[in-house]
Amino acid sequence: MEKQGITTLIVHADRHFGVEHNAIRKPIHSSVQYGFDKVEDLIGVFQGTVKNAFNYARTGTPTTAALESKLTQLEQGIGSICFASGMGAIAAVFLTLLRAGDHLVSSRYVFAGTNSLFGTMSDLGIDVSMVDACSVANVEAALRPSTRMVFLETIANPGTEVPDLAAIGALCRQRGLLLVVDNTITSPALFLPRSIGAGLSINSLSKTIGGHGAALGGVVTDTGEFSWETYPNISADYRRGDTKQWGLQQMRKKALRDMGASMSSEAAHQIGIGAETLALRVHQTSSNALALARYLQAHPAIKSVNYPWLESHPQHEVAKRHFSAGSWLLSFELRDLSSMLPALNRLRVATRATGMGDTRTLVIPVAPSIYWEAGPEVRAKMNIGDGLVRMSVGLEEEQDLIDDFEQALR
Ligand SMILES: *Cc1c(COP(=O)(O)O)cnc(C)c1O
Repeated sequence: MEKQGITTLIVHADRHFGVEHNAIRKPIHSSVQYGFDKVEDLIGVFQGTVKNAFNYARTGTPTTAALESKLTQLEQGIGSICFASGMGAIAAVFLTLLRAGDHLVSSRYVFAGTNSLFGTMSDLGIDVSMVDACSVANVEAALRPSTRMVFLETIANPGTEVPDLAAIGALCRQRGLLLVVDNTITSPALFLPRSIGAGLSINSLSKTIGGHGAALGGVVTDTGEFSWETYPNISADYRRGDTKQWGLQQMRKKALRDMGASMSSEAAHQIGIGAETLALRVHQTSSNALALARYLQAHPAIKSVNYPWLESHPQHEVAKRHFSAGSWLLSFELRDLSSMLPALNRLRVATRATGMGDTRTLVIPVAPSIYWEAGPEVRAKMNIGDGLVRMSVGLEEEQDLIDDFEQALR
């Protein structure tokens, strides 16, 4: 078949995988237990000889499996595992694929939860070096003989920094290192981590893929780009069968079965419906975000705007080369810090709220909220000024958003 667009793929995916009773949408399978006529089949599920079967909802259900298939198609990968949240997926990758004594090189500009998780990993004996990955030289300089993994986000929240993606991909390939990319802000609608040789792509489904702020979820997709037989941390139990599946096998068992951050069928259903309009929504939210970024950049009350599609953005060229649009994430600072909170309070359309990747435009002052616990030192390292406002741009009509900021900044 011709390679299809992601909307064509996803709206027909359930039907193509085959749904009970000729339904064209996968139903919500809420059963936690799975029963069998013959005990041999029950045994076979545990031993992996009975395929496409389930034994307990903690390790998957038909509904989560249907979502996994769709996400694998969107990422053009070879398989996916869904988790209860994006952090569940990220923790699963680090805690099932790294061991004490291993070293991880990460971009310094990462999601606050990920940043905090690195502290937990250090306590467990996994060393993390955080570098400015906007230059590949910084990543290369941090590599050690014990380095097992390189971790990047495509567009950093809240500063919108973009790492030197293709160059870091080439470096990892040359050194045989596993590159893991958190694709949440771009999503497969704007970027495929596979295209730079990343072995794993992670998405928080709570953001733009689910898209409606109505369900939590996360996913890890194996792109098929990494050779697991060269990876020392795959246990003997999972060095079985197709070598391409070794990473997923180990993650599904160690993370879902043993750690249990499992997605519910209800969440999978909700996220699957949201994902059908992913490309349409990202097109509209990126277009709104660019219009707002240009408007704010020209406004006398605004000191600076961070948005990769602005020519003034330090990684504008890298972003243009890798992504098909600038995404729905931007941040800005007012010239006068004391007017920031009153201006945000005057907004009538944009909502003062946590979270991102919703249908609605959401704003939050970053330093006193999500980065308050991190403290001034971490904030300085991450270029988070006291007046930085993050905006997750929604689907509202562009003019309504601009009018809202016009009245709030006046
Ligand atoms: C939100 C987010 C996460 C965490 O996802 P949750 O679903 O909220 O756990 C991870 N990475 C990035 C880039 C995010 O924006």
